[in-house]
Amino acid sequence: MNMRFYNKFLIIAIVALMAFSCKKEESTISRPLLGTAVSITIADDIDRAPLFELAFKEIERIQSIFNPSDADSDITKINSYAFKRPVIVSDECIDILLIARDVSEKTDGAFDMTFASMAGLWNLSRDDFIPPSKEKVAEILQFLSYKNVFVDKQSKSVRLLKEGTKIGFGGIVKGYASKKAVEVLKSKGVKNCLVACAGDIHVAGTNNGKPWLVGLKDPRGDSVIATFYMEDGDSVSTSGDYERYKIYNGKRYHHIIDPRTGYPAESGLVSVTVFSKDPILTDAYSTAFFVMGRERALTILKRAPEIAAVLITSDMKVYVSGSLRDRIHFREDLKIEYF
Ligand code: ADP
Ligand code: MG
Repeated sequence: MNMRFYNKFLIIAIVALMAFSCKKEESTISRPLLGTAVSITIADDIDRAPLFELAFKEIERIQSIFNPSDADSDITKINSYAFKRPVIVSDECIDILLIARDVSEKTDGAFDMTFASMAGLWNLSRDDFIPPSKEKVAEILQFLSYKNVFVDKQSKSVRLLKEGTKIGFGGIVKGYASKKAVEVLKSKGVKNCLVACAGDIHVAGTNNGKPWLVGLKDPRGDSVIATFYMEDGDSVSTSGDYERYKIYNGKRYHHIIDPRTGYPAESGLVSVTVFSKDPILTDAYSTAFFVMGRERALTILKRAPEIAAVLITSDMKVYVSGSLRDRIHFREDLKIEYF
């Protein structure tokens, strides 16, 4: 996996300040994992070094299950053989597939792991990126549907019902990894920590007695457009078109695929931030809402009080769940509408 640094949130500066205030040892460590930068902060005044190792080991373990470049990973086995025969995978893989399916159903297929059938066509990491032809996209589009993935909970096996259908965990694995890393730290007695897998953050406890403070970056600039508090057990994820993209002939091509078209989603949104207690859901729904656009996302948000969101349109209008009003602060010049 390529190493990339994502900057959707500005926690680095905040946690760096903490590192200075703590003389004994670093309280934040970042490592390249899951194709991005994973950053862990432990705010407890304890011997942190072995705890960091355990938390990063946990993320490495998750990476090895969902890494398509690893020949032995569950994902490689599924994509290589599950069309021909049922492939038995780990319990964790089954669990995530079932959660992903549920989100796919609830978002009318906007979240869909079979986006990966297209992955080879949209190779955004290439310097000489050229968008694929319409014909090529149409040819692969027939393989995109979460309904082509059959998960059998009892036998812990997966089948792909169409040859050519492939799955990818990129829209959900970082949320899962942040959840598991926090779990591992808590199991070792850590009370206060933050795990950020790029734009997917999960926290426990407080930052030296205060809620964790995170800044959301401007999707079209370098400044911070909002700051918000995170309390014990909170999670947040951002999906946007401004970290992984290529411009070709003046047009932006990014990494979130609309499963209905096979093209990078053009929903009118440029940034979607989702808040909930469950980082797996924030990760999956931020991707889904980005695909769905404001109106369809609002329909779901109004029915699901356990999730809240900040939706930013391409003309920088900001739509915010009313439940966030007390914990989020926006840059003065922005036009904010609460729903
Ligand atoms: P990021 O990876 O930047 O944090 P997201 O959480 O939105 O952003 O995930 C985007 C990733 O999700 C893509 O790089 C790809 O791996 C995967 N993906 C792309 N389109 C979809 C989709 N429609 N449904 C599910 N996953 C997707
Ligand atoms: Mg996501």
